[in-house]
Amino acid sequence: GAPDHILAIAPYQPGKPIEELAREFKLDPANIIKLASNENPLGMPDSAKSAMMKAVTTLGRYPDPNGFELKAALAARYGVPAAWVTLGNGSNDLLELASLALLGPGLSAVYAQHAFAVYRLATQARGARHIVVPAREYGHDLNAMLAAIDQDTRLVFIANPNNPTGTFLPAADVVAFLQQVHERWGDKVTVLLDEAYNEYLDPELRFDSARWVEQFSNLIVSRTFSKAYGLAGLRVGFALAQPRLTDLLNRVRQPFNVNSPAQAAAIAALDDADFLQRSYALNRDGKQALCAAFQKLNLQFVPSYGNFVLVRVGDAAGVNLALLKRGIIVRPVGADGLPEWLRVSIGLPQENARFIEALTAIVGAA
Ligand code: PMP
Repeated sequence: GAPDHILAIAPYQPGKPIEELAREFKLDPANIIKLASNENPLGMPDSAKSAMMKAVTTLGRYPDPNGFELKAALAARYGVPAAWVTLGNGSNDLLELASLALLGPGLSAVYAQHAFAVYRLATQARGARHIVVPAREYGHDLNAMLAAIDQDTRLVFIANPNNPTGTFLPAADVVAFLQQVHERWGDKVTVLLDEAYNEYLDPELRFDSARWVEQFSNLIVSRTFSKAYGLAGLRVGFALAQPRLTDLLNRVRQPFNVNSPAQAAAIAALDDADFLQRSYALNRDGKQALCAAFQKLNLQFVPSYGNFVLVRVGDAAGVNLALLKRGIIVRPVGADGLPEWLRVSIGLPQENARFIEALTAIVGAA
């Protein structure tokens, strides 16, 4: 049989695919909207689509195992050496690689209550102990996290902004935390700063985390092409870290973990400033519309810095079912310890409007 720590894992619950809902409720897939997986409602940028199609012709061969061109583009963008970049099959892959490289039985990882679900999974899969620090106003309590690190801790996960709560830690707080962890524990404890939603931050809140990687030898910053860059299905993420940590990640990385069309699309998307700006603006405006509607409905919500909003509906299972029947897929977050809440991804204006109309009918009738 499998070891106990594997048997203890509750598998990740992804957003319901459109086709599955169509079959279950006998709905026309064309009428279903999915606001459940924090995807980019604009889809892929055209620039990435054509780069990807060109690369499809090379699929008879293995991809570049070292992602030379994509790493060079990322290095230029972030002002770090290419040798500090690790590519992942989505940024999930990088979380997994960090856990593979740094955790094991007898060791522990620290993360916050209501933090991204994969931190728990990656820790459990290694047979490591998890230290879950109670959330503060639905976000990370950095002082408590610092205090929770113990002799066995090798990895601290921080999501900024966090999913599913959408909370955000200002740069000054993150730097103070990094400083304290490094002063107290040196390179023994690695901090993985997961910035999957960074591109959705308002410009004045964005920070240059590549500089922190220069400053802190125990820091890994992860980013993704799945959200604002619109490439969720292609699975590309990357990490920035100094050579000691980059070397560790590469020891456990599968040699061909990012395929050629994905590498080509990511290079094109990275250059598509116009698409990124449109994604940001669409998200900012859609988030405003959703939050205004929640306010009007007297529903509590957590102010979000990502491309989704967490809203308290009370009977989340009931409201979710009523939404599904209307062809709207959102994300219940009971597994994240938030049984009364639903997480809604920001969609296109007409998708947001349809969701608001349905929600108003459902909770207004309650
Ligand atoms: N980190 C956070 C906080 C996320 O919300 C997600 C996606 N849900 C990821 C990482 C992983 O995304 P991907 O593997 O598509 O990069």
